[in-house]
Amino acid sequence: MVSRIIPVDPFDLVIFGGTGDLARRKILPGLYRRFLAGQMPEDARIIGAARSELDDDAYRAFVRDAVDEFVRPDRKDVGQIDAFLSRLHYVTIDAKGTGGWQELAGLMRDGVIRSFYFSVAPGLFGDLAERLHDHDIADADSRIVVEKPFGRDLSSAKALNATLAEHFNESQIYRIDHYLGKETVQNLMAVRFGNVLFEPLWNSQYVDHIQITVAETVGVGGRGSYYDRSGAMRDMVQNHLMQLLCLIAMEPPSRFNPDAVRDEKLKVIRALEPVEPYQIVRGQYQADADGPSYREDVENPRSLTESFIAMKLHVSNWRWAGTPFYLRTGKRLRARASEIAVVFKDAPHSIFGDEAGHHRNILTIRLQPDEGMTLGVTIKEPGPGGMRLIDVPLDMTFAEALGPESEEIPDAYERLIMDVIRGNQTLFMRGDEVEAAWSWTDPIIEGWEARGDAPKPYEPGTAGPEESQMLMHREGRRWREIR
Ligand code: NAD
Repeated sequence: MVSRIIPVDPFDLVIFGGTGDLARRKILPGLYRRFLAGQMPEDARIIGAARSELDDDAYRAFVRDAVDEFVRPDRKDVGQIDAFLSRLHYVTIDAKGTGGWQELAGLMRDGVIRSFYFSVAPGLFGDLAERLHDHDIADADSRIVVEKPFGRDLSSAKALNATLAEHFNESQIYRIDHYLGKETVQNLMAVRFGNVLFEPLWNSQYVDHIQITVAETVGVGGRGSYYDRSGAMRDMVQNHLMQLLCLIAMEPPSRFNPDAVRDEKLKVIRALEPVEPYQIVRGQYQADADGPSYREDVENPRSLTESFIAMKLHVSNWRWAGTPFYLRTGKRLRARASEIAVVFKDAPHSIFGDEAGHHRNILTIRLQPDEGMTLGVTIKEPGPGGMRLIDVPLDMTFAEALGPESEEIPDAYERLIMDVIRGNQTLFMRGDEVEAAWSWTDPIIEGWEARGDAPKPYEPGTAGPEESQMLMHREGRRWREIR
């Protein structure tokens, strides 16, 4: 496969929070990989900006360690790493004060794209936006990238949007949801809208139901105090699972451009019906030999926050009337596995009789661990002995199907950062999408809080609380196994 990597235009990328965990694990190693791939032009520069008192050399040493820890061994080339590090600079900055801003202003160059990654707590977004503006650091073509969480409810999200809007136009704001940067998620759109095979079947006439699962094996770890104020609904469903649902459920956009795609996603969110409490199961993991319970992890013995959630949703429009969407996500589950399964209806009539068994086509879109798509088709079991049917996968695991170079599939973060430099907002959330998602989420959470609903306990290493199985079983359906 011939690589078709096109360098982006020259840029100055300032990473506020450039010494933080996200910068160290994702942003900086990702930028190194893009550099290695030849996507960074000669005069691109990256400027770390954070509270720590560092100089350029100390920051380069920090980034060298990050590359060493988070980049595959065969991608580590000393000469290339040195060349990459020579693009790096550092400014000690106080987001809430005056320190460092003049220096940063002095570093910025004219005639290159100025981008600012806000990899800091959302409470600092307004301070950063204001100071970028007051010091004339941001220009009309500058872009800002903001991280999740984007608010914790509708009113805080609106306030955040309003704060950013004081200094930046919507076309300059890139709200990142790294699930949208995944290769498979984009491929979902290619498969849906680039083939005639799927779209005619993509509706309630042929689709029995859709399952979206994002399962993690880890607990809340060191994020306990943040997580306990958030929970699976705010941390995962309102953003990541909702975005996946939108891409599955949306109508074909007229073009693959930012507003056409985001308009269609917004319509899906607005078409979501309110969810009744009996259609939701929340859970909290218990302790086991491998680790403490959720409540111990977050040091809150009375916590009512969920580390697991499963729910049944309806998108009320012509395409999806009668086809439920089941969403499920949780921590300390059996495996780290994220997938979307489109489960098609039974053939209208079985000519093979009962002994042939019960078979269904399922399109599985795997996001992790190994990205790819599988279409389950029913065929005759080979050999003599009558017409016995089996399901076999038509498999398209990208790494295998596309050859060795596909191993270079960029990580979601690096792909999205390059989209920022290119000025392409298609894979970023628009302000109204985020607000619509909170409008749907808020009443559900308010209901739990008003009733004092307690999550069900579940054993770590399982698929979550038993009750979540019932959500499906009572309708003659079942969750796919988490593995
Ligand atoms: P972190 O606590 O590890 O790092 C915070 C960074 O902000 C540090 O570089 C620190 O120096 C800087 N900072 C803090 N106060 C500052 C101030 N007053 N002035 C200037 N700089 C200041 O945080 P993180 O885990 O890297 O997360 C950053 C953002 O990304 C948060 O909004 C977080 O919610 C979001 N996020 C993180 C992850 C992750 O995996 N770490 C995942 C998704 C989203």
